[in-house]
Amino acid sequence: MVYTVALTGGIGSGKSTIADNFSRLGITVVDADVIARQVVEPGQPALRIISDHFGDEILLQDGTLNRRALRAKIFSCEEEKKWLNALLHPLIHQRTQAEINQALSPYVLWVVPLLIENNLQQKADRVLVVDVSPEVQIARTIARDKVSREHVLQILAAQATREARLSAADDVINNDGGTAQVAAHVDRLHRQYLQLAAQAAQQENE
Ligand code: ADP
Repeated sequence: MVYTVALTGGIGSGKSTIADNFSRLGITVVDADVIARQVVEPGQPALRIISDHFGDEILLQDGTLNRRALRAKIFSCEEEKKWLNALLHPLIHQRTQAEINQALSPYVLWVVPLLIENNLQQKADRVLVVDVSPEVQIARTIARDKVSREHVLQILAAQATREARLSAADDVINNDGGTAQVAAHVDRLHRQYLQLAAQAAQQENE
């Protein structure tokens, strides 16, 4: 098994920025959001199953998934939400495992925005939480997504709390400072993870 470090944090906390730093150090990054999109791409069996179930109105004209329409279908219906999760979760899990197993780097960084919300902590060897103060997080999200403060606050209210995330963390990286500061912290974590991965590999061989 490839040693897996899960990276999580709220919206706009800096997950992508931090993942880029690990990637620059040669570490394979497996992105849960990318995988969740890939399993419902045109041509994937899941998309046909979803459109057979909900009807063609959940497809856009070009045949891709209309996420907004799908969200509306499951928003107020717990049964439909369960059905969709039961279909997608095993596919996402399989694909994630395959990507992790194919990785050639000494450990893998698995970026999972909803790690805590979906209770996936146990699937990683180590949990790295990006922590940021709410004001910085809100300001950066507004600047990046060009959305209102109210919109960001709504998203934050639906996500795990800062405290819940921190209590699940093995390591915490603060991203209130500048990018150079965070890059230096990633360098230190990288050295630590190389050691932990080497230890885990040694234990597996014993
Ligand atoms: P996430 O992936 O967690 O949603 P991002 O990595 O996209 O967050 O960061 C949110 C926004 O804040 C982006 O526009 C990013 O460029 C910016 N950002 C992230 N970290 C820093 C930092 N340390 N200093 C300044 N801007 C940052």
